[in-house]
Amino acid sequence: MIILKLGGSVITKKEEEEPLIDHDNLIRISGEIADSSYGKLIIVHGAGSFGHPSAKKYEIGSIITDEEDFARKKLGFCITQSWVKKLNTIVCDSLREKGILAVSVQPSSFIITKNKRIHSCNLDLINKYLELGFVPVIYGDVVPDLDESIKICVLSGDQIINYLGENLKPARVILGSDVDGIYTKNPKKYDDAELMNTVTSCDDLIAEGSSNVDVTGGMNGKLIELIELAQLGIESEIINAGKENFVKRAINHEKGIGTIIKRK
Ligand code: ADP
Repeated sequence: MIILKLGGSVITKKEEEEPLIDHDNLIRISGEIADSSYGKLIIVHGAGSFGHPSAKKYEIGSIITDEEDFARKKLGFCITQSWVKKLNTIVCDSLREKGILAVSVQPSSFIITKNKRIHSCNLDLINKYLELGFVPVIYGDVVPDLDESIKICVLSGDQIINYLGENLKPARVILGSDVDGIYTKNPKKYDDAELMNTVTSCDDLIAEGSSNVDVTGGMNGKLIELIELAQLGIESEIINAGKENFVKRAINHEKGIGTIIKRK
């Protein structure tokens, strides 16, 4: 089984305030997946410009101050849920148009977090879809939270990767982003940032966070999830999905075209 993440920075124009799809990337990557030998595959995608602006505006996941604040955040929840659902429909349609049997799996319909970490998430449905030969497509979303002080929060695609990786033990975890892998520091800010072939600890990079408006933690947040997964013996690799055929090559078992995250 392969778990493939399509970063919000790849399939949307993430720096935009408006929800905008990067159609060139989405269509090309859908074709690359269709042309590869993927077998059992789960696709997780980020929210990019479809989710982050409204999640940020309505401060979803921050402490609720009063009833009025909660009412406003709930409205923001509905708006964010709707936008990421639209993105998911576009992604599933694009995949299906290339012949992939993509089925949508909506996190806010079955996942509950506790203090922003996944608490309940029944994977029977995803397992069943895989058994039937479908490709489940799940994504960064907003979900209810058991913590009374926040009640709702943002669930990142990267946390979903961590959870699915731990519970489904895939052979490969591939994360497609808009950079070549993990650098010593943010390559978009620093010319002297160096690409790393392997990362075994969060201390390997001078964390700066993402240059993008990212409510789910940028590269630093991503790395924390992946290091946790690596500790369980599940390696992952961050590749540049913006580069032609990289997704296809990674699915076709090629290793080392990006940064591998593994335990020491
Ligand atoms: P995605 O949407 O692809 O999941 P993010 O936007 O959350 O990815 O994170 C990728 C971004 O993180 C890159 O575009 C880059 O600007 C930023 N970044 C920050 N620090 C680093 C680093 N050390 N190495 C690579 N990218 C970094």
